[in-house]
Amino acid sequence: MITENNKTCAVIGSGVSGLGAAIRMRNKGYRVTVFEANSFPGGKCSSETKDGYRFDMGPSVFTMPQYVDELFILSGKDPREHFNYIHLDPVYRYFFEDGSFLDAAHGKEKFAEQMAVKTKDRKTDITSYLEKTETIYKLTDEVFLKNSLHRLKNFFTWPVAKGILNFGKIGAFDTMAGANQKAFKDSRLVKIFNRYATYNGSSPFLSPATLNVIAHVEIAKGAYYPVGGMYSITASLVKLAKDIGVQFNFSTPVKEIVIDNKVAVGVKTERGTALFDIVISNMDVYNSYKKLMPKIKRPAKTLDQPKSSSGIIFYWGIKKEFKELGLHNILFSENYEEEFNTIFAKRSIYHDPTIYLNITSKHTPADAPPGCENWFSFINVPNNSGQDWDMFITEARENMIRKINRLLKTDIRPLIETEMVFDPRVIESRTSSAFGAIYGNSSNNKFAAFLRHANFSKDIKNLYFCGGSVHPGPSIPLCLLSARITTDLIR
Ligand SMILES: Cc1cc2nc3c(=O)[nH]c(=O)nc-3n(C[C@H](O)[C@H](O)[C@H](O)COP(=O)(O)OP(=O)(O)OC[C@H]3O[C@@H](n4cnc5c(N)ncnc54)[C@H](O)[C@@H]3O)c2cc1C
Repeated sequence: MITENNKTCAVIGSGVSGLGAAIRMRNKGYRVTVFEANSFPGGKCSSETKDGYRFDMGPSVFTMPQYVDELFILSGKDPREHFNYIHLDPVYRYFFEDGSFLDAAHGKEKFAEQMAVKTKDRKTDITSYLEKTETIYKLTDEVFLKNSLHRLKNFFTWPVAKGILNFGKIGAFDTMAGANQKAFKDSRLVKIFNRYATYNGSSPFLSPATLNVIAHVEIAKGAYYPVGGMYSITASLVKLAKDIGVQFNFSTPVKEIVIDNKVAVGVKTERGTALFDIVISNMDVYNSYKKLMPKIKRPAKTLDQPKSSSGIIFYWGIKKEFKELGLHNILFSENYEEEFNTIFAKRSIYHDPTIYLNITSKHTPADAPPGCENWFSFINVPNNSGQDWDMFITEARENMIRKINRLLKTDIRPLIETEMVFDPRVIESRTSSAFGAIYGNSSNNKFAAFLRHANFSKDIKNLYFCGGSVHPGPSIPLCLLSARITTDLIR
């Protein structure tokens, strides 16, 4: 039962974090209105259907489902009656240029046991590596993920103090690739663990080994598949928000955050100005300042950090089923270091890209016609600094088809019966993400966690931020945590 407090809150954007913030603010008793530029909710976590194929357009790997569940519990509902997911095992199938493949199982012991059979590394070494990633998790979870890093009082709690005292154990002084190279003899395992840097759009050759924590989250804590696909996260949260009384205005871009004497007092849209007690922006923070508050002094140090990578995605309808593929498949490049050098230093696309194939029709057959599969075919690319994306798309399509044909010993060209394409320009125009970067600032340096924008404005009262471009970071679970941290700051 919600106790009304007669105050109002505007949420700019219905990304997963905006939805989380709206649900939490409504539960605090605020009358909440969400303003969404698109005609549909979800931002990056949206869905499209073409020629009988349905695609999740952005996120596909789902971890830490408890952060979705807790929104239902907070609202007095049983999550299992509204949102469901299945546990994945194996999580991934990894393909290599030497013709081999490795399956990544769920659970430290099982993962290590199966990998030891097929690689040059011993089970004990793999387990001991995974235990180190668990230590990083235990030391960083409270410090970096669950609290605002920008409130001094949060540093005077025991878990945070412990994390800071053990800074040496979290891998901040080595790169991810450096630590993984030392840990494993088999270059395939090094690649598998290096890839986790891409989960926040960074290079394993530049980012700190602290990011090895992501392996713990996925392998030990587990990966899940929401029944009906990733879009069911968005759909179920929109329904929950509406059920508890959140108002939605779609196709209503906010043009300006109205500020009076250093206090956020409302939002301006084409329909006019609406006044609110609290404004929460789920729009990318860089563009929140640039487009909605151009006259306000911007915090340049956080906003101008190098941005993450982006992606070229081909959404292919494939008129055949491939028994050798699962839900999550990776086709690794031969030279991973050169691939990241091409993306981050040369700001170009690599001729032999690592390809991620996500096929939800493996679990949701209705996502493709009978006997067919919906392939979300993704490669990492630089964010948009004016490159010739039309040329890159043509090149990427050829590079990807050639690589898939080579590794799967097939010819997919005649099997592609429908196609949609996303590139950094589309991602930028569809979600307002600065430069089409998928994950806000990159984590290509050891201080990156401290250089994300706070969940509140230091200069403007009653103005807050949530989502993948602010603390604690991108990904569905972190965006939901971001909403929690943000709304916990508001009384
Ligand atoms: C291709 C791709 C793959 C990914 N893979 C994964 C994955 O496997 N697992 C994972 O956990 N995460 C993944 N992510 C990241 C994850 O999708 C994002 O971190 C998360 O969805 C971002 O949510 P958000 O709340 O920050 O907002 P966004 O999704 O960025 O949404 C922001 C919303 O605000 C709206 N908006 C912007 N400006 C305005 C305005 N002025 N007025 C009104 N509305 C506005 C936009 O239209 C949009 O709906 C992936 C992302 C992409 C793009």
